[in-house]
Amino acid sequence: KNAVNIPEELKGLLTKRNPDSHKGDYGKVLIIGGSRGMTGSITLSSKASMRTGSGLVYTMVPEYLETIMSIKLTEEIVKIAKDNGKGYFIKEALEDILNNAKGKDALAIGPGMGTYKDNIYLLGEIIKNTNVPMVIDADELNALSKDIDMLKNKKNSIVITPHPGEMARLLDKSIKEIESNRIYYAKYISNKYDIVTVLKGNNTIVSYKDQVYINNSGNPGMAKAGSGDVLTGIITSLIGQGLEPFNAAKLAVYIHGLAGDFAKDKKGEYSMVASDIIENIGEAIN
Ligand code: AMP
Ligand code: MG
Repeated sequence: KNAVNIPEELKGLLTKRNPDSHKGDYGKVLIIGGSRGMTGSITLSSKASMRTGSGLVYTMVPEYLETIMSIKLTEEIVKIAKDNGKGYFIKEALEDILNNAKGKDALAIGPGMGTYKDNIYLLGEIIKNTNVPMVIDADELNALSKDIDMLKNKKNSIVITPHPGEMARLLDKSIKEIESNRIYYAKYISNKYDIVTVLKGNNTIVSYKDQVYINNSGNPGMAKAGSGDVLTGIITSLIGQGLEPFNAAKLAVYIHGLAGDFAKDKKGEYSMVASDIIENIGEAIN
């Protein structure tokens, strides 16, 4: 039903791939996250980026996870950064992260990263020291809520992708307060920090400055672990392919929901899982 109803403002954002192109033309992205017991999120984000058309996806995890990630990922390149010996990044990971961010077209940070204390320091330093456009999600949104003003040091575009619980923590409000004023709070945080905000849930809101997009694709079968990680990978991929971050976020949210709708057609709302959304990104893009 949605395939024939593409919102006007999204038309033409994705162009045909040039027959003479090579992988360098479709963006190099770096996806940072993962921790012990949480290798799925970062896997989903990475695979979603590949399926959205990125030329090269680099997945950076704590050293401890190198072997398991090398088994889980195939098309993606596994990178490691220093950890505490138990699968959580430490402050000393910063150098590895910044070195790997160099020359990338987009990066994402947070999926499955856990809540280890050094995450706050790492996020603050990455924001301050890299000019690569960045998507902040999941555990790094929780780190951000401890010191949200670190956003003021940004050197380039930032997209945040909170679900209502994460948004509530970021703004120190109740989830109920956020949910009854979704557009207001999405615009508020976008304007205050000059960032793109993706406030997730049924009818995800994407806002930047005074502009607001309200998404109409997707279904409650997506209310399941891992769905958001897939979205992060799609947004990062589109930014890496050269879309403006606000356009990338809007288009990604629409593609993600539409892929979810195709997954629902095949598996049903009860049974579909986040990997099924990834499997249907291609159909959604087509
Ligand atoms: P997360 O909570 O980070 O895993 O993100 C969940 C993802 O699934 C977001 O992209 C939501 O917009 C989407 N989602 C969750 N529940 C629904 C729903 N009831 N209808 C449509 N999309 C949903
Ligand atoms: Mg999430």
